[in-house]
Amino acid sequence: KTFKDLGIVENLCDACESLGYKTPTPIQEKSIPLALQNRDIIGLAETGSGKTAAFVLPILQALLEEKKPSPFFGLIMAPTRELAAQIGQAVDALGSTISVRSTVIVGGLDIVPQQIALGKRPHIIIATPGRLLDHLEKTKGFKLSSLRYFVIDEADRLLDMDFGPILDKLLKFLPRERRTFLFSATMSSKVESLQRASLRDPIRVSV
Ligand code: AMP
Repeated sequence: KTFKDLGIVENLCDACESLGYKTPTPIQEKSIPLALQNRDIIGLAETGSGKTAAFVLPILQALLEEKKPSPFFGLIMAPTRELAAQIGQAVDALGSTISVRSTVIVGGLDIVPQQIALGKRPHIIIATPGRLLDHLEKTKGFKLSSLRYFVIDEADRLLDMDFGPILDKLLKFLPRERRTFLFSATMSSKVESLQRASLRDPIRVSV
């Protein structure tokens, strides 16, 4: 199969090709068609499986389909600054053929440049939970009421790092009418309860 066979539009297929992605990986092949059918997804997949493109491509495609691409369209949560930075690079690379604007919001960096970046109203935010919650509570004019896609990446690690209570608080800032993708290498009772709190009628996909 090709990305086109999965329903990915030409612009994004071109971006995949220029990154050297010839064929979709198993997690991409299973989850992309479901994501394009507007389903919430639980993806059981490890790092290295190609899971990042599995959730980024459907969000970019939905953004392309918008008449007027709205700011704060997608939010991707990651457990560490390094992973957030990597996902940010993947969003920019996969979005290179369309004019997507993204920003990475993580702890340990000055808050003011991040406030300026959020003020530019990017389409996609990649963030670690604590700093994002700080911005939601403190940055004037920053709201996620128009959010359409929410991704929880490496949910098991996020919960092992005790981000659970912060994620619960974050969920209160998100609109109910949205799609949610949760990716995790492992399933645990903590992941199951986060899943129940954040996803709607999800389909489980594993590789
Ligand atoms: P991930 O599991 O998302 O961290 O991806 C692992 C690595 O696989 C990254 O370096 C990606 O750029 C690469 N990758 C993702 N999808 C594909 C694909 N379909 N073909 C080849 N490489 C890929």
